[in-house]
Amino acid sequence: MSTAAGIPFLDLITPHEDLQEELCGVFRDALGSAGFIGGPMVEDFERDFATYCEARYCVGVSSGTDALTLSLIAAGVEPGDMVVTVPNTFIATCEAISQAGARPDFVDVDERTSNMDTEKLRDYLERDCFFDPRRRKLIKRRTGMPVSAIVPVHLYGQMADMDVILELAERYGLVVIEDACQAHGAEYYSQREGCWKKAGSMGMASAFSFYPGKNLGACGEAGAITTNQEELARKVRMLRDHGQSKKYHHEIEGYNSRLDAIQAGILQVKLRRLPLWTEQRRAIASRYREGLEFVSHAVGLPDEPAWARPVHHLYVVRVGDRSEFMNHMALENIGTGIHYPIPLHLQKAYAHMGFRNGQFPVSEKLAQEIVSLPMYPQLAAARQEEVIGQVLAFVADRDPLYNRMVPLAMAAAR
Ligand SMILES: *Cc1c(COP(=O)(O)O)cnc(C)c1O
Repeated sequence: MSTAAGIPFLDLITPHEDLQEELCGVFRDALGSAGFIGGPMVEDFERDFATYCEARYCVGVSSGTDALTLSLIAAGVEPGDMVVTVPNTFIATCEAISQAGARPDFVDVDERTSNMDTEKLRDYLERDCFFDPRRRKLIKRRTGMPVSAIVPVHLYGQMADMDVILELAERYGLVVIEDACQAHGAEYYSQREGCWKKAGSMGMASAFSFYPGKNLGACGEAGAITTNQEELARKVRMLRDHGQSKKYHHEIEGYNSRLDAIQAGILQVKLRRLPLWTEQRRAIASRYREGLEFVSHAVGLPDEPAWARPVHHLYVVRVGDRSEFMNHMALENIGTGIHYPIPLHLQKAYAHMGFRNGQFPVSEKLAQEIVSLPMYPQLAAARQEEVIGQVLAFVADRDPLYNRMVPLAMAAAR
């Protein structure tokens, strides 16, 4: 039986219904003061978002992509450098590297977390690179180009293993820029510091996206950079505003990449709800785990290491016969997605870089099997039970063991 109204993959209407008056108030304030660019709405949001991320500075920009690009430039990445990231991310991570003038390079991910495999990062830095004492730089053997930065991606809302990444970066003199575009409020237990750390507080700088579908979304395009370094924050402020330190005094050539005031005001309103929305996402993730754990041989569930407190931007499972699974869900009017179907090294846009199929086998395998289930704070428990029910129905249809396992799982739950 299909669920009549359907369960969308994402709902961006309901969260704004409750907030409509407040959000319209932001627009009225902007009209009343003609404060459309910069001003107190932007500054207030920057201050509150920095506090939320436990970072000293926040600089609002026009998108997550620009947040990455400007961070890389401000951190000193130069044309001709190489910057290491992962192949299973949204293309913006890589575009930012190219647009900063550098060349993207990849290390594969850990199959359990889908995040950067730190052993492979170690191998890359130790084996594929050498230290040139004359230039005082780490050089990639195959290209002869210096490696200057690492961009770990906190994919699906769970942070990468930052202690190891930061330790390796320190050893080799590399900059770390966090791609925190999916990880607003995510936490990581740092053994080195002996405390929980927020996404956006660990790297030299971090990039956040406020694209509408992100955990904190604007009603349009927006992004931000967080950092603990005053000088880096100052540079990004100049870069986002035509390189000017003062009106019409341009120290460098910059960009037009400001966060507009109405979006900042909207984000300020929504930021107050973010802790609640994160708790709701966590409850949904636990319900998925409880409901699906006993079929995890057929539907792989995301791994949560003890050091991670994810914010579940996406709930991504793995199934062998994915297209059949997605068809089954679609027939029941349940939305699903794939994040992402083609690893970046195999994208047409990067064909000129000479990567091969088989070079990053974990990312390639994940791309074939991953599927994202509905995940948003307003997904009601009863609707979620329908999603879980349909996942189980799919497994039951093709798994002869299933009917014997249900009573066992029910007994175990008792
Ligand atoms: C959304 C996203 C970006 C880009 O953000 P925009 O605001 O859309 O430019 C970059 N990296 C990752 C991992 C993302 O999910």
